[in-house]
Amino acid sequence: MSVLVVGSTAFDSIKTPKGENPRLLGGSASHAAVAASFFAPVKLVGIVGEDFPAEYMKLYAKHKINVDALQKTSGKTFHWSGEYEVNMNNRRTLATELGVIEHFDPVLPDSHRSTPYVLLANISPAIQHQVLDQMKKPKFVVVDTMDLWLNIARPELLKLLKRVDAFVLNDSEARELTEDDNIVTALKKIHALGPKYVIIKKGEHGAMLSSPKGLFISPAFPLEKVVDPTGAGDSFVGGMIGYLASQPGALDAKLRRAMVYGSVVASFCCEDFGLKATTRSTRKAIEKRVAQLEKIARF
Ligand code: AMP
Repeated sequence: MSVLVVGSTAFDSIKTPKGENPRLLGGSASHAAVAASFFAPVKLVGIVGEDFPAEYMKLYAKHKINVDALQKTSGKTFHWSGEYEVNMNNRRTLATELGVIEHFDPVLPDSHRSTPYVLLANISPAIQHQVLDQMKKPKFVVVDTMDLWLNIARPELLKLLKRVDAFVLNDSEARELTEDDNIVTALKKIHALGPKYVIIKKGEHGAMLSSPKGLFISPAFPLEKVVDPTGAGDSFVGGMIGYLASQPGALDAKLRRAMVYGSVVASFCCEDFGLKATTRSTRKAIEKRVAQLEKIARF
């Protein structure tokens, strides 16, 4: 089954202790779509400006990502720049130039409206609502977000949480949303806001799922060298939903494994700047790391 991904399609200018790279292909939707493409056909919903290079379009094509709903308009592509501290868990946004994303008004072609798996990757909750409004009875909807929307668009985000199956957020966002430092009780509070499945990402320490079947802890793949963690969260959720879409059977039965696949795709993402390492990776390389992770985590 296929996956529809809406989110930002961006230029990312990134500085980490390992180096500096301007105007890489980035954005939540780019990372998530490439990650999902290892498992299932992907339809990308986004917007870019006239400055968006053909070589980045080729990258989407390499991953067979459907770009029929990727609008190209006059103006500049969304540009995000960020800098990491020596401890790469800490990141500072240096600048956000919205460009064409400011007036993004996504209209889905008919061919996209009955896509069964929907990922509302990080973008404003208003746009996430707008895309969801156009979908016809999706099988599974996941929403991702960031602290910015908790601060400037909380009512829209809370409304959205009542419409989705799963909510993915990181531990600091969970703390901010619930005003609770305890991850276990924070999970309960987030369920009360609507989603049946809640996943809290904890960076290099993996992720925790709370579902009707109880809790699950997914490890992160241990890496010797982290070059740039930008997009790891998007790769995690993209890999996860792609795997879910590719497998038959009940959701609860495949969700744990899907999280492990998401963790592994995220590990590739961290090994080079932007999407470089993710796009170099293969399904075979992913399977190898999943098998390694299975050995490490079994007890
Ligand atoms: P992550 O490292 O998973 O948190 O995601 C980083 C990605 O989020 C980068 O590729 C950015 O382009 C994108 N991003 C940063 N700020 C925003 C924003 N305000 N809206 C949408 N996407 C953003």
